[in-house]
Amino acid sequence: MRQNPFGEGGPNVSVIGQGTWYLDHGDRKRAIAALQRGIEAGMTHIDTAEMYGDAELVIADAIAGKRDGLFLVSKVLPSNASRRGTITACERSLKRLKTDHLDCYLLHWRGSYPLEDTVAAFEELIAAGKIRSWGVSNFDADDLDELLAVSGQGRIACNQVLYHLQERAIEHAVIPWCERHGVAVVAYSPFGHNDFPSVRSEGGEVLQSIADAHKATPRQVALSFLARAPSVFPIPKASTADHAAENAAAGDLVLSASEISALDKAFPRGPKPCSLPML
Ligand code: NAP
Repeated sequence: MRQNPFGEGGPNVSVIGQGTWYLDHGDRKRAIAALQRGIEAGMTHIDTAEMYGDAELVIADAIAGKRDGLFLVSKVLPSNASRRGTITACERSLKRLKTDHLDCYLLHWRGSYPLEDTVAAFEELIAAGKIRSWGVSNFDADDLDELLAVSGQGRIACNQVLYHLQERAIEHAVIPWCERHGVAVVAYSPFGHNDFPSVRSEGGEVLQSIADAHKATPRQVALSFLARAPSVFPIPKASTADHAAENAAAGDLVLSASEISALDKAFPRGPKPCSLPML
């Protein structure tokens, strides 16, 4: 657990959380069991979005009677992120999730509605007790500058961005920006969505040898590497209980400086791209 990354006075948030994109596509009972195993193993941070089909409904079943202590996050689509539309979208998500509040509510990516309108709606939702904090997703450093000018200091809880071993673009400007302004970085697709390095690749061999040294798995090593900065919170998605348990245990894995340096070489950061990569 890490203290206070998403705003003063909020609950602690597990370093490793649970993603839910496509969780509604497989066996429903298995998905519920995976989320519940994840929660039991300490992954109390659960990420969803109105965009993720029926994922909010699956979560509602998984968290029934267990809402306390969870850090529940959903997102408004940019096409709904007007002043009124944001409020209505949030109320729909609350209904689907069968809860009376979200711990954090995010703008999924920047769209055409003025940031002033979305931020005003977020603040109205906080005042109404429907959300505890708000943040954004897929914002580059220049977008964050604009957002900060609208919101003022201390309002943006997090920026959720693409971050995995083979995509480290956020290390150039986004993570430094977030750390300067006390904004948590939520790392989405930490396993590269469906492209985790094969054990037969050069980088995969490095991952495997570090994993062997810790009696861990390559995916646990990857999560630990991504979470090496205290500002970063990876949210892998797992649809089986075994995967969820494995991912949760990564929260206890501490890599040495030389292991971090070996991973840094095996999966180089690369030059800063023109625009922020996103899925
Ligand atoms: P991911 O977490 O990088 O990878 C998910 C894949 O890894 C699934 O195929 C999953 O298989 C597999 N997996 C998980 N744990 C495993 C384990 N221990 N062993 C073997 N395989 C394992 O992909 P993601 O779903 O794209 O990203 C995670 C979350 O980030 C999403 O679910 C969503 O909540 C969020 N996200 C946000 C945005 C945004 O724009 N804000 C974009 C993309 C994603 P199983 O399903 O079979 O377990």
